[in-house]
Amino acid sequence: MKKFLLISLLIIGFVCSFAQGRKGDPKLTEAWDPVPAIVSPGKTSQDAPSDAIVLFNGRDFNAWTGKDGKKIEWMLEEGAMTVKGGTGEITTRQGFGDCQLHIEWRTPAVVKGEGQGRGNSGIFLMGQYELQVLDSYNNKTYSNGQAASIYKQLIPLVNASRGPGEWQIYDIIFIAPRFAPDGRLQSQARITVLHNGVLVQNNVALWGGSEYIGIPDYTPHSMKESLMLQDHGDAVSFRNIWIREL
Ligand code: MG
Repeated sequence: MKKFLLISLLIIGFVCSFAQGRKGDPKLTEAWDPVPAIVSPGKTSQDAPSDAIVLFNGRDFNAWTGKDGKKIEWMLEEGAMTVKGGTGEITTRQGFGDCQLHIEWRTPAVVKGEGQGRGNSGIFLMGQYELQVLDSYNNKTYSNGQAASIYKQLIPLVNASRGPGEWQIYDIIFIAPRFAPDGRLQSQARITVLHNGVLVQNNVALWGGSEYIGIPDYTPHSMKESLMLQDHGDAVSFRNIWIREL
């Protein structure tokens, strides 16, 4: 019954977004059920292996560029980079396709806001497939928008969140979508995610690029695209970012 309701909502959402040119009610793509069970992660940290490309070692933004090629205004302190709200997202200079990505992140210790307004950022693989970063520790929101969701697509298997102010880890295996020369989708993007060492996305297929409103779909792009970190206005920090091309 719940599945039927969800599918009905998605169809309604699709029709509405089509009719309104992607405007409309963002609530139509929020899935609040099921709520992932809470799991307490162990304590781990991981240095880059020898064949990894280090994207951030805590000292500089050399591998990154600001919005529209502008200088990065995010804060750099104590081996971490922190979003400076309103200055825009940052993207890697290098493009990546199939990859293994390790990234550590921390939401603000001082809790402000609720739902999507608490410690929101995001890791946009290929600049458009968002693995959500959010303070999901005692913070209710739609399940397909909480930490470790593929935003508004895939609910994490469990909620392995640490508390605000604590460092958390994503280990990601991402397989890029494939497009035929004429732009037709040949295979969907796939992702596996461990959140603090706990499997939360198990080789699942993405529906398309992340959309705030409406049903996602695929737009053809090249085999390698920049990785993007979101500025959602909250002072989320990142450290120890490394990637292995597959
Ligand atoms: Mg986000």
